[in-house]
Amino acid sequence: MPTMDISHILNSLNDAQRHAVTAETGNLLVLAGAGSGKTRVLVHRIAWLIEMEGVSPGGILAVTFTNKAANEMRIRIEQLLQRPIGGMWVGTFHGLAHRLLRTHWQEAGLPEKFQILDSDDQLRLIKRINQNLGLDEGKWPARQCQWFINEQKDEGLRAANLEHYGDEFRKVMMQVYQAYEQACARGGMVDFGELLLRAHELWLKQPALLSYYQHRFGQILVDEFQDTNAIQYAWLRVLAGEMGKLTVVGDDDQSIYGWRGARIENIQNFTRDFAPASMIKLEQNYRSTGTILKAANHLIANNTGRLGKELWTEDKEGEQISVYAAYNEQDEARFICEQLEQWVGKGHRRDEAAILYRSNAQSRELEEALLRINMPYRIYGGFRFYERLEIRNALAYLRLVANRDDDAAFERVINTPVRGIGNATLELLRNLARNEGVSLWQSALQSVTKSLMPTRALLNVQSFMELINLLDEYSSSRELHETMDYIIQQSGLIPHHEKEGGEKARSRVENLEELVTAAKSFTVANVPSDETILPITKMTAFLDKAALDAGDAQADASEDAVQLMTIHSAKGLEFPLVFMAGMEEGLFPHKMSLDGLHGLEEERRLCYVGITRAMQKLYMCHAESRRLHGEENLTRPSRFLREIPEELRQEVRMKGQIVRGSSWAGSGSGYSSAKSGSTPYETGLAFSLGQRVRHPKFGEGVVLNSEGNGNNARIQINFHAEGSKWLVMAYARLEAM
Ligand code: ATP
Ligand code: MG
Repeated sequence: MPTMDISHILNSLNDAQRHAVTAETGNLLVLAGAGSGKTRVLVHRIAWLIEMEGVSPGGILAVTFTNKAANEMRIRIEQLLQRPIGGMWVGTFHGLAHRLLRTHWQEAGLPEKFQILDSDDQLRLIKRINQNLGLDEGKWPARQCQWFINEQKDEGLRAANLEHYGDEFRKVMMQVYQAYEQACARGGMVDFGELLLRAHELWLKQPALLSYYQHRFGQILVDEFQDTNAIQYAWLRVLAGEMGKLTVVGDDDQSIYGWRGARIENIQNFTRDFAPASMIKLEQNYRSTGTILKAANHLIANNTGRLGKELWTEDKEGEQISVYAAYNEQDEARFICEQLEQWVGKGHRRDEAAILYRSNAQSRELEEALLRINMPYRIYGGFRFYERLEIRNALAYLRLVANRDDDAAFERVINTPVRGIGNATLELLRNLARNEGVSLWQSALQSVTKSLMPTRALLNVQSFMELINLLDEYSSSRELHETMDYIIQQSGLIPHHEKEGGEKARSRVENLEELVTAAKSFTVANVPSDETILPITKMTAFLDKAALDAGDAQADASEDAVQLMTIHSAKGLEFPLVFMAGMEEGLFPHKMSLDGLHGLEEERRLCYVGITRAMQKLYMCHAESRRLHGEENLTRPSRFLREIPEELRQEVRMKGQIVRGSSWAGSGSGYSSAKSGSTPYETGLAFSLGQRVRHPKFGEGVVLNSEGNGNNARIQINFHAEGSKWLVMAYARLEAM
């Protein structure tokens, strides 16, 4: 037995956690609610295995849900052990699958320089395939085909495995899937689902390789197990074999990726599928106040078929949950900003506060409000750097340099910036490519050598190809960032994006510059720094990172900034102060989920995830009227608010006043704020924002907004029958209801 002092590993754990950390090796499920220390157990168990069981870091495989979580895990283990653990494999399912396929591309039947296709590229490719197949977009939307294909891959099914059972829809989908598989194979392209599927097939088709990894990884640990899908589960199952070395932690109440094929049954069936397996439950929560925890417990109790566990805490009750009913989304954003300013004013850090929302589109309004008050913020997910138009354009050039047969990249930039290559020419290239079964680049090459198109088009295509070849030549002897810079200069992308004008153009050019910086600071992981890396290898690694990493932090990570993200991306994280914005029926629960019980329950789990991110204080906001996707709608508060017992919440309603004539309560800003409890409304004289009113002609409505004062005062009402209208107060003849 090693004699070293291991108290630092076990000290900060409760009994159940310690039990889980030191459990004899064998299959183990830690099933526990939010904030009970599952991730902590995982980290400590890894340290324990290395320190006490003599497991080498290289024999450990750890799977987490985001790249950010993977980095944190590594850092925390190294802190516990006080030494680096270089050889350990830790990453996301996609990241690990990718690593395997890069290493064993031959065995996986892939070209060495295979490219990762992100979901936007995938959609474009499917659109083109559908055109080739003569499928009408109206009847067979490419997006639907994309869903179908991804769904099959998540279930581990290829086109050849499917049956159509005489069903017309399935027949067409299968045809598209098959053509899509062929196109990917031709171009050496691999989408996200394919990474997982291929990695699984690699195990099945290469027993020797499988056996190597089965022996190598004596311990496999998985966080957020409730969100594994069928193919990830199968991959793990095969790799884990019969040797009993799997530790998984998860919470059935936090399964939120059912819409992407995650199977809550995986956690429910674990002890059966991986028998013999032991299970440990953790029930003490260390994250949140009593109030926040009670709210979460009550909410989730409305779901059926739970594995059942109740969380408790030693922490104090803490403040009530503040519920703010905003007039509209602008008011909601303004309210959040005010609270944030107060929070920061009290000396708190900005990054201790998070604003969570259901849909990405909600972030814009919040961002604008934060910009107005000069509050630095950072967005996770959503407007991801590598998903921005200009970045995708620049990377498409790099992709072509790395792999001429990358059709998606070819399509993206052959005429961006405009170089006189029109649709007719492209169509000709596509036809040729299809008939010959070659890539677009190859067909372009043929058309040029055999003069298959009008001279003008031919010259344009030729000069595009020369440009790519020139970039390639340059890249072979330069650093990656020099190549990136050269590409941006030579491609004409800067003047192209500058044409848009204004702030937008400026930010696009800045982003392109940022890309050069990103390339400069990029290092290939797991390669000793003194080893020379071929430019092409580095380029490919960089492109992979861009495609895989897209979900992580944006912009300058060092600045103290408020965190904005969807609730989905907040999984596993915690913040002292949390705002949940947009707590409205139709938005949350999302209207897409309302047609089935499963959908609704998944939304409720998502709400549970949101609430349990909060440590000290939680605000939940809803707006009475919301403009989203250009449409203004009157809304009702989310049912999830009602599912939280009344004594745990407190309404903060900042009543605004609109007063007729000269007794205008607000000054300039349109309306004034007063704490709940004041009575802003005086019959015949004033209306409060959010108040119900009746108009002799337009009928009933709700006061949304106001501007100006005195005789110029105008008021905006959302009429149930007529929609929203601005009326002049002096003539409006409004009646309070
Ligand atoms: P989630 O379900 O949200 O992923 P989790 O179960 O993984 O949550 P952790 O993130 O591991 O929970 O832990 C929640 C918080 O509680 C962390 O700040 C962690 O450091 C703290 N914590 C966990 N266990 C203990 C303990 N025994 N003593 C003190 N703090 C603890
Ligand atoms: Mg966790």
